[in-house]
Amino acid sequence: MKQLHEKISSEGRVLSEEVLKVDSFLNHQIDPKLMQAIGEEFSRRFKNDGITKILTIESSGIAPSVMAGLIMGVPVVFARKRASLTLTEGLISAEVKSFTKQTVNTISVSGDYVTADDRLLIIDDFLANGQAAIGLLDIAEQAGASVAGVGIVIEKGFQQGGRFLRDQGVRVESLAIIDSLEDGKAVFREEAETR
Ligand code: 5GP
Repeated sequence: MKQLHEKISSEGRVLSEEVLKVDSFLNHQIDPKLMQAIGEEFSRRFKNDGITKILTIESSGIAPSVMAGLIMGVPVVFARKRASLTLTEGLISAEVKSFTKQTVNTISVSGDYVTADDRLLIIDDFLANGQAAIGLLDIAEQAGASVAGVGIVIEKGFQQGGRFLRDQGVRVESLAIIDSLEDGKAVFREEAETR
């Protein structure tokens, strides 16, 4: 997605050969116009898949998911990372090892909002080692919901998550795939660029 590539190139900061900081438009400050374009692109890619709901994880998955949900006309459920006073009964949970924080979180959703009647699109901001996506797939499976695919804003193609998920037969649609963060700049994979 050209607009996203340009934004990453102009505003992304390469913190190391493994970590890209995109706080100016995705992870802290949010660019609504770009989120809208991202939502439109996810909608275009999954419009024939009978999606009933979008499942994401707090906090950075919420903005692109809400835009996709708005355009697709479906609700958005986000898995919580912390225990909530009001979310206590009928919880479906999974363990997720955080890539950026190196901690293990239990993520949870209410069984009221993800059910066996749902056909889910799972969305997240980044795909690195795939832990967040695997946790969300685990929740979908426990709920008996089917999953049409995983939509990712930025996939780091040099880490193992994308290959792992695709090898499991999961459809992964990434709007930007970065093959390297060496020499302080993001190198994009061609095939994602042409979409
Ligand atoms: P995974 O679970 O695939 O190993 O990592 C994905 C999660 O870690 C995403 O939800 C995202 O929050 C965070 N993440 C992984 N790599 C990066 C990165 O390079 N930059 C930022 N900003 N977040 C990342």
